[in-house]
Amino acid sequence: MTSYLEWMLGVLKNSIDLIGLPAEVYDFLSKPDRILTVKIPVRMDNGKLMVFEGYRVQHNNALGPYKGGIRFHPEVTLDTDIALATGMTLKNSLAGIPYGGGKGAVRVDPQKLSMRELEQLSRGYVRAISPIIGPEKDIPAPDVNTNPQIMAWMVDELSRLRGYNVPGAFTAKPPVLWGNPVRLYSTGLGVVVAAKEAAEKWLGGFEGKTIAIQGFGNVGQWAAYWASKWGAKVIAISDITGAVYDPNGIDVELAMKVTNETKKVINYPKGEKFDDPALPLFTDADILIPAAIENVITLENVDKVKAKLIIEGANGPTTPDAEKKLYSRKDFVATVPDILANAGGVVMSYLEWVEDLQYYFWDEEETREKLAKIMRRNFHRTADRWEKLKSEHPDKAVTMRDAAFVLAVERIYEAMKLRGWV
Ligand code: GLU
Repeated sequence: MTSYLEWMLGVLKNSIDLIGLPAEVYDFLSKPDRILTVKIPVRMDNGKLMVFEGYRVQHNNALGPYKGGIRFHPEVTLDTDIALATGMTLKNSLAGIPYGGGKGAVRVDPQKLSMRELEQLSRGYVRAISPIIGPEKDIPAPDVNTNPQIMAWMVDELSRLRGYNVPGAFTAKPPVLWGNPVRLYSTGLGVVVAAKEAAEKWLGGFEGKTIAIQGFGNVGQWAAYWASKWGAKVIAISDITGAVYDPNGIDVELAMKVTNETKKVINYPKGEKFDDPALPLFTDADILIPAAIENVITLENVDKVKAKLIIEGANGPTTPDAEKKLYSRKDFVATVPDILANAGGVVMSYLEWVEDLQYYFWDEEETREKLAKIMRRNFHRTADRWEKLKSEHPDKAVTMRDAAFVLAVERIYEAMKLRGWV
């Protein structure tokens, strides 16, 4: 199977070629500006010292400071981190926000750490990367298995090192530490804005449409929440413990409560339960939202996918060969790509950073409307560009992902050209 990095670079190359940009643009963007590998020693509760490995990849800063999350995951590799950082450069460019892209990772299973160990690891990681981050340089945020509490420890650690508070150094912080309440659910909300716009454009409306969601962490839960709030029917959800299916619609708030309290989605008291966490991928729903991690829809299982519309909540859930197969299906409409669909998190991060730089805070509703407006605009810009690219290249199977990459690359190219880099 192609790695996530190969996949990312393949789509990047393809989009650069599609619009005839100079080949050196690919040479420039296929490698990150800087990679920092760090070791993080943590004294564990049992007295033993464990040394963790972490990274911060700064991919490109033509459009502004590097920006992207930090992932804690037992299987994360430097290659995956590079791919994710590249994806952030493109996502931030497409979103129209003034950021380059970066991504951090620590190879660890956070489920196996106590709160004290997790705090020590988070603080140790910040000490290790502190020379290269800051509100004007590189602004981390959460990603898989990291959250506002971890951001609070991190902003505190950096503030101690600098000797003054640096609110704008991290985003998705708790509201009392210069965060914004919308950030908690912004990625899920943004995914549903994309789903709603797509369903209205291509499926004749959003209300009453059935939705299956794979992954019930921050993104999956809040996508489910906003989808049902806006009138769609969530019929399948899953986490690593299994899946829940209910054709009459899942009570999302109850599912969130049970999952957060017991750490198991299958403790949801109603509907049918299944052991296989992949079940929502194959549910007969109008819309599928993969909201866990990369490479879950593959050539091996794509034939079982029935949804007409895929909205990528996770980063890189669909492999390229699987995506090709999906588009060859007659009733398949589109995969709304990750860099467009899940940008709500980083767009909200941008709004939070703007607030932090001026110590002026909007209320929740005003923030939410600003976020939704940016997401709607980006969806339509991408959908329009896709139409245009398809008519310009009738001989090529241009995907919506290609269109998103084209728009993203164009903006970065323009900035790099004006700066005299290429
Ligand atoms: N981790 C999120 C992403 O992949 C958010 C990044 C951010 O807010 O900086 O887009």
